[in-house]
Amino acid sequence: MTTSRDMVAGLRGLRETAPASLAERVMEVTGLTDTYAQVETPIWPLLVAWGPAGISAIERIDDPGAFEETYFARTGRRVHRVERAPAAVARTVERTMAGEKVRDLAVDLSGLNDFQRLVLAKTLEIPYGEVRPYAWVAQEIGHPRAQRAVGTALANNPIPFVIPCHRVVRSDGHIGNYGAGGPFAKRAVLAWEGVDPDELERLANKGVRYIGSDTTNIFCFPTCRNARRITESHRVRFRTGDDAEAAGYRPCKVCRPTGAAAAA
Ligand SMILES: [Zn+2]
Repeated sequence: MTTSRDMVAGLRGLRETAPASLAERVMEVTGLTDTYAQVETPIWPLLVAWGPAGISAIERIDDPGAFEETYFARTGRRVHRVERAPAAVARTVERTMAGEKVRDLAVDLSGLNDFQRLVLAKTLEIPYGEVRPYAWVAQEIGHPRAQRAVGTALANNPIPFVIPCHRVVRSDGHIGNYGAGGPFAKRAVLAWEGVDPDELERLANKGVRYIGSDTTNIFCFPTCRNARRITESHRVRFRTGDDAEAAGYRPCKVCRPTGAAAAA
């Protein structure tokens, strides 16, 4: 019996000896090649690539030459542009950008190391319309001092929007940089999700990192769903997690602000 792995190995062999165009055509016909297409989204058109394991790259900027080169450099596989993405791929992008939970999200993180995968898996847990600091991601994956490496891993996220690296902000609360098109794009996609980027910057400028409720005595990151429910007259603002705990407040179990407070 020929397994698909044997088939891929066989086709790789073929590629080495046959003219490239023939090998590529065989790959396409057998569905083993990686392909990409433009996918429309409510914010902007994206280039989306997919392979046998799932979505393998997304890029906002319409620069197909660089897209293909970057793809090859990371995965060691060629990617070919096609007219249209399969309905399942387009639908996955659409659903994640609309904030739906996609249970069986299939992504291909070829070429990334374990640390990068850990960072991206943790980032997938940040709810739609909320943000967390780099320090939080570092703490949650058990590398509290690796904030800078977390930032680098997120800047090189090959599947932005679907893996929401835009939901990770600077540890001082400022929105910060963004690999998939700079701060402007990051603000735009956060605003699309209902986060007010100006409000985030205002809080950061005032040094407010956490919001507590004087009825529950629980404190949160400002965008946590529990923090947003607190009415104005019951909101208490804290600059550090230590300040909050010294005032008798406990960290929220949903957004878990303590670790970030300790690491910052
Ligand atoms: Zn919370």
